[in-house]
Amino acid sequence: MKLPTISIPITEIPLQKNIQLFLKREDLIHPQISGNKYWKLLYNINSYLDHNPENPFIITFGGAFSNHIAAVAALGKEYQLKTLGIIRGEEFQDKWQENPTLKLAHHHGMDFRFVTREEYRDKDGLTQILENEFADALIIPEGGTNEHAVEGIQFMLTEETKSFDYLCTAVGTGGTIAGISKFAEEHQKVLGFKVVDDHSLYNKVLELSTRNNFELIEAHEGKYGKITDENIRFINDFNLNYGIQLDPIYTGKMMKKLFEMIKENYFPAGSKILAFHTGGLQGISGANELLKKQNRALIYIN
Ligand SMILES: *Cc1c(COP(=O)(O)O)cnc(C)c1O
Repeated sequence: MKLPTISIPITEIPLQKNIQLFLKREDLIHPQISGNKYWKLLYNINSYLDHNPENPFIITFGGAFSNHIAAVAALGKEYQLKTLGIIRGEEFQDKWQENPTLKLAHHHGMDFRFVTREEYRDKDGLTQILENEFADALIIPEGGTNEHAVEGIQFMLTEETKSFDYLCTAVGTGGTIAGISKFAEEHQKVLGFKVVDDHSLYNKVLELSTRNNFELIEAHEGKYGKITDENIRFINDFNLNYGIQLDPIYTGKMMKKLFEMIKENYFPAGSKILAFHTGGLQGISGANELLKKQNRALIYIN
């Protein structure tokens, strides 16, 4: 069975301004499969299944809280695909059961191999070893970003998204914004909110997208994965005001920065803005466990 395309609702976030803001709810695709991860995996998995229908086996990489690991494991369960996660950090070897993302991934049938941060950094070396060991496996890079992933992102754009002036997304490895940029309308401007402090991202996105209709905006607040108290407050206020859950690593940082830009009149009057809610909600319980240990405010869960 192959992955289907799915239709996604768009909801308005009312502002007291002459600007319209909407959220496209890719987060509603599945509780463990962040919206953009689904689209990034669609062509990767379907084209692999075209050639390997017998014993499909998917290997991929990620940190212990990774939305991509969670997505691959959940898809493996749903479509009967064997999955192996190469996890950054040997320390999780003995305590993966305490990590909600890994615990659920394992429950979905994923096996793990834990590697040191140094081994993890050498992706080419690791991939070579895995290719030798598992000749028929599909090996998907970290975050799922490759050319197939960029093609799959086209399904985030529909007839309905064509009327917007701005398309906004959080940026990690750059695959999602590359796809949005590649398939956007001529009149649309694409804004990427960087949650990692990585200066190579612009050229990487440009190469994957082949268009320069995008801009990258810093939204990392220090470093990847950092959760500030201000960010938690923003996410909780947003939830109270609009009834929509954001995640602390991607969509919370994007929306906070986007609200600041709206307040500072970055957008001309009359602008119609569409932000993609890419999901990431599976990571909240893990984040809350860390916050609890630090005696800090928690993220409300709807
Ligand atoms: C992975 C992820 C992103 C970033 O996607 P990239 O293609 O890696 O840039 C954005 N939002 C969420 C919720 C994600 O899980």
